Amino acid sequence: MGSGWPHLGALPLASIYVVVAIAWLLFSDVTLLTLGFSAEQVARYSFLKGTGFVGITGAALYALVSRFAARTVEREREYRDLFDSNPSPMWVYDLETLDFLAVNDAAVAKYGYSREEFLSMRISDIRPEEDVGRLLASVEAARDGAVGGIDRAGLWRHHTKQGALLWMEITSYITLFEGRRGELVLARDVTEAIEAREELLRYQQGLEALIAERTTELQDANARLTAATEAKSAFLATMSHELRTPLHSIIGFTSLLADGRSGPLDEEQRMQIGIVRDAGRHLLALINDVLDLSRIEAGRDEIELEPVEIAEMVSSVERTMAPLAVAKGLVWSAGGPADPDLEIVTDRRRLEQIITNLAGNAVKYTRTGTVDLTVTVGRGEARFSVTDTGPGIEPDQREAIFREFVRLEGDDLAPIEGTGLGLAISARLARLLGGRIEMESTPGEGSTFALVVPTGGPASDGLTV
Ligand code: ADP
Repeated sequence: MGSGWPHLGALPLASIYVVVAIAWLLFSDVTLLTLGFSAEQVARYSFLKGTGFVGITGAALYALVSRFAARTVEREREYRDLFDSNPSPMWVYDLETLDFLAVNDAAVAKYGYSREEFLSMRISDIRPEEDVGRLLASVEAARDGAVGGIDRAGLWRHHTKQGALLWMEITSYITLFEGRRGELVLARDVTEAIEAREELLRYQQGLEALIAERTTELQDANARLTAATEAKSAFLATMSHELRTPLHSIIGFTSLLADGRSGPLDEEQRMQIGIVRDAGRHLLALINDVLDLSRIEAGRDEIELEPVEIAEMVSSVERTMAPLAVAKGLVWSAGGPADPDLEIVTDRRRLEQIITNLAGNAVKYTRTGTVDLTVTVGRGEARFSVTDTGPGIEPDQREAIFREFVRLEGDDLAPIEGTGLGLAISARLARLLGGRIEMESTPGEGSTFALVVPTGGPASDGLTV
């Protein structure tokens, strides 16, 4: 192609021929006469002139037709090459008979049938039996389509001569092939992609089942744990009540004995009775703490909210703590916000219990120096800070001391009375009040334990102050 010949259609060509022929008829004689030929000569050469015209137009026609035929053959070969050498399997089948009309090399390679075998088969022969119904319906729909117009795509299962089942993605066009209405099909093997997707799906379903199973197990374990915790709390509460009554008697009567109200005691007896009484008191403190903790854990500890004056709270704690600090030779100090009437909404008893516990620890664990209780209020929070000059707490133990029954083993601390429950209870109570306990400490220099609570009660937005 591209030889420079004009690509004229049939009608323009015929028109040119008609114009040239008429012009020839009309003007050839006149032209000859003008050129000086006599009328006689013109009449004599008329046959020669006509033969010349036919000869020239015949030669032009021959050139045109042979050129056209060559171009058609060339095009056909190109399309054939495109079809044959296409890397994707392609074929054309007859829309009426379903016979294969042409197949390319890639189809032969993919399906394992020779070209001759293909051409003696129908397209239904490469389908699994159960898909033939769907295939016929699809062909039926294609029969009504216009040539070249319909472009259909779909996923089909094909089997090879060796019996392997392939997933093929099909694109097809209605075409005219050697005068028959057929469909040109282009197929792409997507078996691997489909199998990978199915594998992924299976894996995902397996995973979902596994998660569901584990979730059920966890829920069961959780339910068992909740039941166990409740049973433990109930047991502790009952046992604690049962133990407290006789303990009160032991402490009461040993106190009477120790005070000599049941008769005089010698030094040794007084010391021994004192040991019994102190042990009783320790046991009672332990039981009270355990009872407290179990009540909080079981969610049975309800808080009663009321306005609490900060200054009054500080004085109340001071009344209990200052004498203990002074008796140990410590300097006690306390201070609150400037406004003596400033109130917060909280549970008075629980608030005092926590501050007393923090201050009690400060006094208990500080050998020399000071214990200071300070209150600051701002941003919807009240902060009760107890600062001491005690032994301080090593960084790696700061979490542990808030766990139940954890007491530090330092030489200085071991002999000091305690249950290891105070901070665990205080932290839980602080949460109950909607707050928290914060701690800062420098080993060897001292610690600050601060209770921070919202000024407007738990879950308030802190707008009261
Ligand atoms: P308890 O005082 O009955 O032992 P707590 O839960 O109140 O129990 O405290 C846990 C541990 O934390 C204490 O045994 C002590 O070792 C340490 N601790 C608490 N407060 C202080 C403090 N102010 N200074 C140093 N150590 C402290």
